[in-house]
Amino acid sequence: MGTGTPTVTTSGISAANAVLKQRGLEPFVHRKDQENFVRIVDKPFLAEQFYASAPEPERTVMRQALGCRFCEHPSCTAGEVTDIRGILRRVAVGNFTGAQKLWQKVPASPEKLELFEARCIRAQGVEGPVPIRQIIRHLSGRLKQDSG
Ligand code: SF4
Repeated sequence: MGTGTPTVTTSGISAANAVLKQRGLEPFVHRKDQENFVRIVDKPFLAEQFYASAPEPERTVMRQALGCRFCEHPSCTAGEVTDIRGILRRVAVGNFTGAQKLWQKVPASPEKLELFEARCIRAQGVEGPVPIRQIIRHLSGRLKQDSG
């Protein structure tokens, strides 16, 4: 066992190959001429550098979503079906389409969203709750743009 990106990448490839094998498909084998998708960042890597290449307002929204602790038992939704944690997880990695789909599956009323935000575990601390309503507003705006 080791640490760092190469180990994580290797573990990911092993996991993917296990799935491919299970399905009777060819395993992934790295070729020398293959494009490298791993980006090496300069040190020290500061929090404000997160998503630096993303355009605004997406960058701000992604940073807000990254503030979510992705709780195992989210107090925000407290067992309700709207998957706020799943939406935030998708937004945090820039998967706005996936987040929009999840939101459309089980949307919530503005009152519910306010309640979710009030119940966010971060609301008890100095940082304040994850701005769920602001993030959902952004997603809804994108949906309107897509359909209009
Ligand atoms: S309670 Fe707050 S931090 Fe936890 S999953 Fe919900 S939004 Fe994220």
